[in-house]
Amino acid sequence: MSNILAREIVKIIRKAYDDNEDFVPLHEPVFNGNEKKYLLETIDSTFVSSVGEFVNRFERDIAAVTGAAYAIAVVNGTAALHLALMVAGVKYGDEVITQPITFVATANSISHCGAMPAFVDVDEDTMGMSPGSLKKFLVENTRNEAGNCINKATGKRIAACVPMHTFGFPLRIDEIRSLCLEFNIPLIEDAAESLGSFYKDKHTGTFGIMGILSFNGNKTLTCGGGGAVITNDHKLARLAKHISTTAKVPHAWEFVHDMVGYNYRMPNLNAAVACAQLEQLDLFLKIKKELADYYDAFFQDQEDVRFVREIDNARANYWLNTIVFAQKEQKEEFLEYSNSNSVMTRPIWRLMNKLPMYQNCQKTNLDVAEFLEERVVNIPSSVVKSKLHLTV
Ligand SMILES: *Cc1c(COP(=O)(O)O)cnc(C)c1O
Repeated sequence: MSNILAREIVKIIRKAYDDNEDFVPLHEPVFNGNEKKYLLETIDSTFVSSVGEFVNRFERDIAAVTGAAYAIAVVNGTAALHLALMVAGVKYGDEVITQPITFVATANSISHCGAMPAFVDVDEDTMGMSPGSLKKFLVENTRNEAGNCINKATGKRIAACVPMHTFGFPLRIDEIRSLCLEFNIPLIEDAAESLGSFYKDKHTGTFGIMGILSFNGNKTLTCGGGGAVITNDHKLARLAKHISTTAKVPHAWEFVHDMVGYNYRMPNLNAAVACAQLEQLDLFLKIKKELADYYDAFFQDQEDVRFVREIDNARANYWLNTIVFAQKEQKEEFLEYSNSNSVMTRPIWRLMNKLPMYQNCQKTNLDVAEFLEERVVNIPSSVVKSKLHLTV
């Protein structure tokens, strides 16, 4: 019975992409713009490393696209998260609240600071941090001590809150922001997946003191590897740039460093590709929206599977199209059938609190995250226009 469903979904995916193509990847990058031209320019200029015009330009362009006052380009999204947490003052022995549904980099970057993640539940519709669950956790488990939010059970400081906009779908970030302000917790958004996603006309990643983006190979835009910290705060931006540049005190020839820094700057070679990719962002988003609408039209008529759309007041980038099966067994049948028929699909991540290194972390009731873990699947979402046949 449900194998019929799996077959129908695979058919509709194949119909969207070139029917003759053997393998349909989940998210393949597209380099149809100025990527090669800018790369050659960079090589000819010899400025291939972390000082260069494309790095400066990319930072200006990212700031313009997101509406943030400042952007700091770094080697990848994980480094951006680590950097943002350090700049926010997260230290050894602190605790940081995040969500169990995320890519492991979110939790790892907290560990890189010597801090411990604490997991609160997500909302079913956004798959991102639930304001209700966060509020319950803060009210029941914390007290204010000299302006710091202290975990009553552990006596430790809650040094930051890191929600994540899952698959590019904006979460209820204004409510999360209000709670963070009320409880005096710095808010850092993991917007690694949500370049081009807005909530109430404000770009994701710009609601807290800092946000981060990723330009990894599978993201909406890619430069091989890359990331960025975005912020409206001049001091935080300066500190982020300083720490990511080995904390070198600017001087024409002297080598002096005034704190423990990191070599996190984005090389100019990557920035060249990133600039070319960013020129195509509007086009990518337009095609992604068309693909999502095409999928949506099919899933409207299905009873046992739901196609995820953005909540009211939100505009998603549709980085990875997402379906939610009514039953776990249907999900497993679909994964099996699609992947063995050369259509790449994948389940949502194993919950962070179930991974060996995070299984002893503090957590709230995670019923919604558990529900989604059993049912969510991502389906092909590449922007390969030449292969897309959306008017079926
Ligand atoms: C991709 C991603 C990151 C990390 O980005 P990298 O560039 O791969 O280091 C962080 N958080 C989330 C949610 C991501 O999807």
